[in-house]
Amino acid sequence: MKFRFLGTGTSNGVPVIGCDCEVCGSSDARDKRYRTAAMLETEHSRVLIDCGPDIRMQLIPLPFRKIDAVLLTHGHYDHVGGIDDLRPYCSFGDMDIYANDVTVETVRHNFPYCFAENLYPGVPKLNLHTIRKHVAMRIGDIDIMPIEVMHDRLPILGYRFGTMAYITDMKTIAQDEIAYLEGVETLVINALRWEKPHHSHLIIPEAIDFARKIGAKRTYLTHLTHKIGLHDKANARLPKGFMFAYDGMELEV
Ligand SMILES: [Zn+2]
Ligand SMILES: [Zn+2]
Repeated sequence: MKFRFLGTGTSNGVPVIGCDCEVCGSSDARDKRYRTAAMLETEHSRVLIDCGPDIRMQLIPLPFRKIDAVLLTHGHYDHVGGIDDLRPYCSFGDMDIYANDVTVETVRHNFPYCFAENLYPGVPKLNLHTIRKHVAMRIGDIDIMPIEVMHDRLPILGYRFGTMAYITDMKTIAQDEIAYLEGVETLVINALRWEKPHHSHLIIPEAIDFARKIGAKRTYLTHLTHKIGLHDKANARLPKGFMFAYDGMELEV
């Protein structure tokens, strides 16, 4: 499977509007970070993870072909703000969107016109499906195991695909979720900045501890702020086996 980071930035993206720091002013493409999203694909299937406000710019460079499913982690704007922009993909058929119950409710509430009972006849449909943690699912030839993590006090979903796990916006995780991460070799995990703990997000040292607890062989940090520093210099500060992801980075998993 091919995994592509479409966005690796925190909720306001990098550069931050109005910021004149060296990261926000950097000309290195890897210092420009759209809001967090990712695409997982095989020859036959394609799964989009999250659909924030940058999704249009994130999808335009990719081949225009069917997206078999959208997996949402949670309903915050930086993860769902671009849902309406998926409409062109409905030319391949209705679009199926999967999320936990809280997220489904949030999305229905925030985009009422996308999910109305009576859409104009013939209008393409975005179908919302409620999924539950630990109930395995299969989209095309991709096996998916939803797991639950906590974003402050909000239960949100992470997703495991074989030996890879994708978790963003986590602050804590219940002990009994750890069993579902056993055997994960490639971990994608959120990390905001180097210091100053945050109420709803891991910071870098916490993300490193978590990855070591899981026993991941390779860990990619995402949902990054401009405070991590310039991509190259920041990467050099990480221990072996840890890397900052960047927009457009691809992994074979
Ligand atoms: Zn977020
Ligand atoms: Zn900045």
